[in-house]
Amino acid sequence: MTNEIKFYDRKVPYSITKSSRAKRLRIAVYCNCDVVVTLPHHKNIEDVESYLREKSKWILGKLDFFREAKGLKFNDKSVIFEDNKDNAYQLVIKTIKKFNKIYGFKYNKITIKNLKTKWGSCSKKGNLNFNYRIVFLPRHLAEYVIVHELCHLKELSHAKRYWQLVEKTLPSYKDLIRELKSDY
Ligand SMILES: [Zn+2]
Repeated sequence: MTNEIKFYDRKVPYSITKSSRAKRLRIAVYCNCDVVVTLPHHKNIEDVESYLREKSKWILGKLDFFREAKGLKFNDKSVIFEDNKDNAYQLVIKTIKKFNKIYGFKYNKITIKNLKTKWGSCSKKGNLNFNYRIVFLPRHLAEYVIVHELCHLKELSHAKRYWQLVEKTLPSYKDLIRELKSDY
């Protein structure tokens, strides 16, 4: 039985194996990127989806690991980047439109990149760059990353008046920074 679950903007196919011996739900991610859920007889299909969501970070991490390993073997370019940059772009555009209704800043080009250490950047010319991995963040953190760069259009430094701009749409931005730094 093949199913599919959507984590953020990413579709993950998985199969379910019923087992009369298994005591609890189990997820395995194999190196060919197969995701297999073992379903004990006392659990039902609905439990599978909530368990998969609970483990989404772990599953995506495993899939990325195996895919990256393959990508490095067969291709110089990152397969994961190629597979996700369009989704990342859509997410960024949609979010910028949403928040820029409030800010009304002028921006130039928006580019999705395979950045190694940063979530995003803003140039003096008003070009915004984002890390494609933004699609794997929970939505509220992706929004923070985008608002962060958006506000640099008005204020390039991290001075107090910059944070006041961020605070305008994300009053709890300090918590978001903490979450982003500790979990991702
Ligand atoms: Zn910044």
